Amino acid sequence: MQGMMMQMPLRIIEILQFAADVHPTGEIVSVRTEGDLHRETYVEAFQRTAQLAHALKALGIDDGDRVATLAWNGYRHFELYYAISGMGAVCHTINPRLSAEQMLYIVNHAEDRAIFVDLTFVPILEALAAQLPSGMRIVVMTDRAHMPDSALDLLCYEDLLDGHSTTFDWPLVDENAAAGLCYTSGTTGNPKGALYSHRSTVLHAFMIAVSVPRSLHEGARILPVVPMFHVNSWGLPYGAPLVGASMIMPGPALDGPSLFDLMENEGVTASWGVPTVWLGLKAEMEQRNAMPSKLDQLVIGGSAASRAMIAWFEDKGVDVCHAWGMTEMSPIGTQAQLPKAQDGLSQDEKLDLKSKQGRRVYGVEMKILDEEGKRLPHDGEAAGELFVRGNAIIQGYFNNEEATNAAFDAEGWFGTGDVASIDETGFLCIQDRSKDLIKSGGEWISSIDLENMAMAHPGVANCAVIAIAHPKWEERPLLVVVPQDAANPPPLDEIHGLMLEHVAKWQLPDAMELIEALPMTATGKVSKLTLRKTFKDYVLPDAH
Ligand code: AMP
Repeated sequence: MQGMMMQMPLRIIEILQFAADVHPTGEIVSVRTEGDLHRETYVEAFQRTAQLAHALKALGIDDGDRVATLAWNGYRHFELYYAISGMGAVCHTINPRLSAEQMLYIVNHAEDRAIFVDLTFVPILEALAAQLPSGMRIVVMTDRAHMPDSALDLLCYEDLLDGHSTTFDWPLVDENAAAGLCYTSGTTGNPKGALYSHRSTVLHAFMIAVSVPRSLHEGARILPVVPMFHVNSWGLPYGAPLVGASMIMPGPALDGPSLFDLMENEGVTASWGVPTVWLGLKAEMEQRNAMPSKLDQLVIGGSAASRAMIAWFEDKGVDVCHAWGMTEMSPIGTQAQLPKAQDGLSQDEKLDLKSKQGRRVYGVEMKILDEEGKRLPHDGEAAGELFVRGNAIIQGYFNNEEATNAAFDAEGWFGTGDVASIDETGFLCIQDRSKDLIKSGGEWISSIDLENMAMAHPGVANCAVIAIAHPKWEERPLLVVVPQDAANPPPLDEIHGLMLEHVAKWQLPDAMELIEALPMTATGKVSKLTLRKTFKDYVLPDAH
């Protein structure tokens, strides 16, 4: 027997419409690339989003078209999120830290019809101009007075909006229609696209609102340091308006002093980001011997937050919530707020728990499997590959059969590539990574790609790239080389030169070590596990 309830499609635009109706004084405060601070309420944001939707229509954007953004966290980027998906198109956020080659691959793979770009990133497009999809419109996210001189045919964001109606007849798009697209690095080869739907995005907004209420509640002032180009700023541009929290957008100013000032001036109550940025903030707090006075919670994820960092902030009265997730999961999977039952624990015991990645959020199921695919017990000891399923998790990669085929088990669960244990109380602890990727400052580097590039040097007989722990960037790549001629090893700068043809400078290995032979597994693969053990205590040149 079926229930007898109405079925309204879950739509992203309804979040902003709701915020404008119910939380009209909620605001978006943005540090602009133009250099000043801008404020708008959710009511104004909703009106400008309508104007933008009209402008997109006028540009010829249609249902399902991909519209790219190359931008910092700011109100115009927020308006694009809602206008693009609201009118039925797909908002494709591009990570400006990718190499030119990766960016071109993504833009062409997504077949973007238009790209909206912050002033800062116009030079990136100028360098790529000849290879962009033909007919792609470029819109600079600024006003007429700040339009750059350029050989490109550039449109101006504020000019596009000008004169359009502040209301729009938002279509009742299917809740399963594509709404957002975000590429993530593959272990090998090209980036892979996670294609979010309206339904998955709205449900994810509810999931984070319910799971992290200390950050997300009416009147909260939340500063997303995590970029809107990296998994939708972990869902904050949807979760914050949903609950009536204001958003304080840092734009390009992500250094410790700028973040501290913005937090203090705007009364920021919570902030979300990767461990690397909190190091900068921590240094600034130490320097000033002060804390932003309203700051109540930091959510740290994207890489493991160290116990020492969590302890430092907690000691200053800031609650730290460690979180784990993935681009493919929209992204939040777990969060480490302690259950009430743990109130009686000592501070030390609490810190032990908070250093783990936490318990699953509603809507995410987890299992760990051994190498034969058998389920392992949730006893805090057994460690295996973590698989997940839920409503905000991908069921395939966008137009990429090969990657899709490799990503799921026979029961249809998604393989995360993380090796983890889960204890009896549901706390997840990430132990290792089976995917061959290195995470530096929250961004990926493919070790296999670097290895292939290094092998192109005639002086390299064999090589491997592994992650080395780094105090600022969490992980950095080390190149381990078996030279053709031990007496005449290849210089690292020549190998860097080969790599720079394909990857960005920050993705280059920090150092090279020579070795006689690479350790092998029983199946004849390079044993990265053994290599990681060998170089466990390795100190990179700039890691002091
Ligand atoms: P991304 O898709 O770029 O968000 O990266 C997701 C991956 O980052 C996960 O599969 C993990 O390998 C890693 N990761 C994310 N959060 C954490 C965390 N809190 N602790 C350890 N690793 C993490």
